[in-house]
Amino acid sequence: MHREFNIAMPRSVNDVLINHLIRDDYEEDLCFALWSPSDGADRLTALLHSPVLPIAGDRQRHGNASFNPQYFERVCSLAMKERCGIAFLHSHPGNGWQGMSRDDINAEMRLAGAAAGLTDLPLVGLTVGHDGTWSGRFWAHVQGKEYSLNWCRAVRVVGNRLCVSFADQLVPKPEFRELFRRTVTVWGEENHANLARLRIGIVGLGSVGSVIAENLARMGFENFVLLDFDEVQPHNLDRLLGTTEDDIGKLKIEIAERQIRRSSTAAHLEIEGTSFSIAEQAGYRAALDCDVLFSCVDRPRPRYILNHFAYSHLIPVIDGGIAVRFKGGEFSGVDWQLQTVGPDRPCLSCLQAFNMSDVATEIEGKLDDPSYLQGLSNDHRFKRNENVFPFSSNLASLEVLHLIALVTGIAGISDFGVQRFRYLPGLLDADTERACRPNCEFAQLTGEGDRHFSLHGKDFGAEAARKRQSITKKQHNKGENYGGKSYMHK
Ligand SMILES: [Zn+2]
Ligand SMILES: [Zn+2]
Repeated sequence: MHREFNIAMPRSVNDVLINHLIRDDYEEDLCFALWSPSDGADRLTALLHSPVLPIAGDRQRHGNASFNPQYFERVCSLAMKERCGIAFLHSHPGNGWQGMSRDDINAEMRLAGAAAGLTDLPLVGLTVGHDGTWSGRFWAHVQGKEYSLNWCRAVRVVGNRLCVSFADQLVPKPEFRELFRRTVTVWGEENHANLARLRIGIVGLGSVGSVIAENLARMGFENFVLLDFDEVQPHNLDRLLGTTEDDIGKLKIEIAERQIRRSSTAAHLEIEGTSFSIAEQAGYRAALDCDVLFSCVDRPRPRYILNHFAYSHLIPVIDGGIAVRFKGGEFSGVDWQLQTVGPDRPCLSCLQAFNMSDVATEIEGKLDDPSYLQGLSNDHRFKRNENVFPFSSNLASLEVLHLIALVTGIAGISDFGVQRFRYLPGLLDADTERACRPNCEFAQLTGEGDRHFSLHGKDFGAEAARKRQSITKKQHNKGENYGGKSYMHK
């Protein structure tokens, strides 16, 4: 059972819908759209990808609006053919998150049974205010033939900017606290409420992820999903925020949660940790619960999956990587590059942040096979992992600035483009001209969810880590689970 409901749409779909629904004369209008499910561990998100606008004779407008049966029949047959859910949308003259009139409730309740019966997916209802703020709900089936109204936690519109409208009754705005006064004075309470309430996923809690977590905790973010299957090893201690030698052998998510709780300025904190890989079903689903994901991984396969999430599941991904160079055995330079990917931005595949043959190599388990790695030259990219704390902490801070721009657009900028810091000559470049290749397969599936395929399966690295950890646990006679969290080892 899903605990919570959400709606998301790409900016392009939002613009078509708004253009139709919001009228200069403040009269109401209506339309339908098709949606695909995004199936998280704790939430179901309706991804709106195809508006179905009325044609002549489909509806009447008379201050408010009503539709004719032929329109709904056309929508139903399209939804069945495409195997998608049905969303019913209308506009209100007021601003902000909209409630529902008796007529609204009756109209949607009448559609709920037919929509669910034909598509096996609940009817989704949306209302848009005159200021473009969306509100939404799912009509979930309860016993017998009743359908009940379930308000969404939030509706997100994902493009160059990420605009999320929250249901304040379900996710209250953070109350002002002296603890984050200096933070709020930079971008104001409204932006702070939009940032702090996002559910942020951090994939990889190593040297970059742990610093991102620290940044967000200090800023007053309330909601975290942490993904990492690794434990702290001695070679991590020079770069892992908040750790000491006593932490060797503990899970990195355990350390990150402890550090967030220590540093947080928020009055209210929700942290969900999972020690599964994003390539395994439990980790995959946990990541789909997020509004934004930080990609702090150094492997090709998780990048590939995150790139899929950014487009197909409409979850913007902020990604970064570090490359250290040597010449004749001596340090000759370092670059770190970061990019936010999602609809209206170039993807990680087109930016060559990973390549498919490396993904295939990882899926086969070769990157976790010592005999395969032994056969590679010492400077092969699969073997390179030089790094120092200032590289990672600078990259982490730049990534957090990407998030702030993406969500608030303060100072008139929401997209810094692809940024690259070059140690030589010590400058940060920004490339704002990049775009996806024509016919990019990731961009083409925008808003489609996992309608065509899912990307989870077996992960050799995660399985090896668990084996290692269970041996250590037996040696130290520690408890079986960390913190009694959900999604832990099964
Ligand atoms: Zn209404
Ligand atoms: Zn692309």
